[in-house]
Amino acid sequence: MSEIFNFCAGPAMLPKPVMAKAQQEFLNWQNTGSSVMELSHRSSIYMKMAAKAEADLRELMSIPDNYKVLFCHGGGRGQFSAVPLNLLPTGKSADYIVSGSWSEAAAAEAQNFGDINVININQNKDSISTLLDSNEWPLNQDAAYVHYCPNETVNGLEINNIPDTNGVPLVADMSSTILSHEIDVSKFGLIYAGAQKNIGPSGLTIVIVREDLLGNAHKATPCIMNYKMSADNDSMYNTPPTYAWYLAGLVFQWLKDLGGVKAIEKVNKAKAELLYQAIDNSSFYLNHIDSQYRSKMNIPFWLADESLNEQFLKESEQAGLTALLGHRIVGGMRASIYNAMPLEGVEALVNFMQEFEKRVR
Ligand code: PMP
Repeated sequence: MSEIFNFCAGPAMLPKPVMAKAQQEFLNWQNTGSSVMELSHRSSIYMKMAAKAEADLRELMSIPDNYKVLFCHGGGRGQFSAVPLNLLPTGKSADYIVSGSWSEAAAAEAQNFGDINVININQNKDSISTLLDSNEWPLNQDAAYVHYCPNETVNGLEINNIPDTNGVPLVADMSSTILSHEIDVSKFGLIYAGAQKNIGPSGLTIVIVREDLLGNAHKATPCIMNYKMSADNDSMYNTPPTYAWYLAGLVFQWLKDLGGVKAIEKVNKAKAELLYQAIDNSSFYLNHIDSQYRSKMNIPFWLADESLNEQFLKESEQAGLTALLGHRIVGGMRASIYNAMPLEGVEALVNFMQEFEKRVR
């Protein structure tokens, strides 16, 4: 079988060397005679692996010591509930910045738990999708926190500058951008990310939370969603997603071996530039997003002649370029090019797009 490049938004492709290593040690992990997924999460060999995965993530993101790293269940959507349950005390409100469909969903879920101030920053200028500059967000100085989504997976909109919230804790859904470029973790109160894009398989969610925000959860918070409970038990209050944690550990090691986040950021920039250039240099393909808010991870594009969509998808699939169908909300195509997507994958896509245009135009 010739090489496949998988552009799925998530669960997304994982690094080949990681998959090969997981395959090689699948039946007999570290000479235990068992698969890692058959071992107790409390066995010393597993706990050692789990601690190393956390240490590697801390190193990759330069996470300060006053932050806890939690390995949770429940995905991104689980955090849509966990965040207000843990951080929104009765009588306070929280600001939710809406820049696309995931931040909108987060705000809708949070409304089940308290007073939510929804701030829609989507704008349309001369048919270009853009966002209100973060300096102009009408934030409430008394809010318990400000929630936003730096990279909207569906809409392909990315907010590059970390907003200044004047001391109000900033909460970020980094599901589709974590580990893709360097960030200053100390600017955030809490970061969360479902694993299934840049971290590992689905089933694991990473939460990075500043310690002073722990301990104020609503009484009704389920124990498995309670950050303090999780932190006090080293993310093992209940059985964690052990295999996903192990695989995330392999991904962290892979990223470290590549030179860390700084190194992958360069590759990610080159990949995104290549694809946007191909789109912009042709009237056959369109992307109407303001260049300063274009995502480097999820790149939606549309064929000017939408009647060719089906043929494009069929032939791209035959060329080994899979999962390019855009999200149903926005239509068209979407190329998700997370850390595991090599530059060659984007080159292959661009070559296919140009060849397709020549052929059918
Ligand atoms: N937030 C973002 C930015 C996402 O991209 C996704 C999933 N694609 C989610 C939240 C929801 O994640 P999950 O399916 O793990 O609940």
